[in-house]
Amino acid sequence: MNMEKAILLDRDGTLIEDKNYAYKIEDLEILPGVIEGLRELQKDFIFIIVTNQSGIGRGYYTTEDFHNFNNHLIRLLKKENIKILKTYFCPHLREEGCDCRKPNTKFIDEIINHFNVNIKESWMMGDHPSDIQFGINAGCRTVFLTTGHGDKHLDDLKSLEIKPTIISDNFLEAAKEILRLC
Ligand SMILES: [Mg+2]
Ligand SMILES: [Zn+2]
Repeated sequence: MNMEKAILLDRDGTLIEDKNYAYKIEDLEILPGVIEGLRELQKDFIFIIVTNQSGIGRGYYTTEDFHNFNNHLIRLLKKENIKILKTYFCPHLREEGCDCRKPNTKFIDEIINHFNVNIKESWMMGDHPSDIQFGINAGCRTVFLTTGHGDKHLDDLKSLEIKPTIISDNFLEAAKEILRLC
């Protein structure tokens, strides 16, 4: 059986506007270039969201709120014929030291096995240094988006010496660059 190539997607600040612990549907806003970029990528890649949701651990919203909000995003994308196969989320606080909060890679084994993913041919896209470190830890290539919180984290990336494969300020441009490199 042929292996799949995956795009692992951060959610907040990557697919949607990062409004700090958003969980209300009216606050859901898909970022420019995301629909078009996913359409381009869908020809070659499957999509899986991997998101840190410490807002649950902090008690800002419940797991149910998270699912309602996230399912709404999945539905909006489905209307555009874009299929997200699964969303993996970490509900914990950093202080809890769990192994599922990016950049930790607890979810990667399951992603590889369950979806038959060739991780070396896959990419992680995110707007935070921890997304890039997650991708590197997982063994895939990475895109750092300066949308969302990415802009303010650009310096962190340098000081932490984390090197993404691509840095971009637009999801569609990043998608085209991925297709050029793969
Ligand atoms: Mg993010
Ligand atoms: Zn966790």
